[in-house]
Amino acid sequence: MRFVEDKIKESGIVVSNNILKVDSFLNHQIDTEFAIRIGKEFADSVDDFTKVLTIETSGVAFALTTAMANGNVPIVFAKKSKSAIVDSLNCYHASIKSFTRDIVSDVTVNKKYLSNEDKVVIVDDFLAEGNAALGLISIARQAGATIVGVCAVVNKTFQGGEKKINDLGIKVVSGAKISSIDGGEIKFE
Ligand code: 5GP
Repeated sequence: MRFVEDKIKESGIVVSNNILKVDSFLNHQIDTEFAIRIGKEFADSVDDFTKVLTIETSGVAFALTTAMANGNVPIVFAKKSKSAIVDSLNCYHASIKSFTRDIVSDVTVNKKYLSNEDKVVIVDDFLAEGNAALGLISIARQAGATIVGVCAVVNKTFQGGEKKINDLGIKVVSGAKISSIDGGEIKFE
């Protein structure tokens, strides 16, 4: 999507040869007009859905605008933190390795909020190695839900996540596809 590429060109900062910082509109401050526009694009790019599934924290804003563009369906976000409030026994679980922090989290979704009647679209800010998306796919499958697609605002295709998802027969929709950020230069596909 041209407007996403333009936004990245304008304010993306290459931190290393595999990490891009986009704090000014995506990961710290959120550009609300941008978020609404990408939500519409995501909702229009997949089959009809009854729920949007994401993971806390950065996916939530874009999951919300995607849900609002499709008749205000609910969003469900997988929780990373262990808390006394999480009813672990009644949850779907997945172990997800964090790309930006070198830790594995047990993420959970309460069984009340996803069922085999749901048609789910998965939304996240970034797609890199695919661990977050694969964990969410596992959770949706534990619920017996149908997955209509995975949408990522920024898809760093050179890290292989998209291929792993496509290999499961699941469509990937990307705001921008980046093929390399080597040497500080952002190359789009
Ligand atoms: P994956 O699980 O696909 O390897 O990575 C996706 C997750 O890691 C996203 O939820 C995102 O928060 C984070 N992530 C991956 N790559 C980047 C990046 O280049 N910049 C930022 N800010 N977050 C990233």
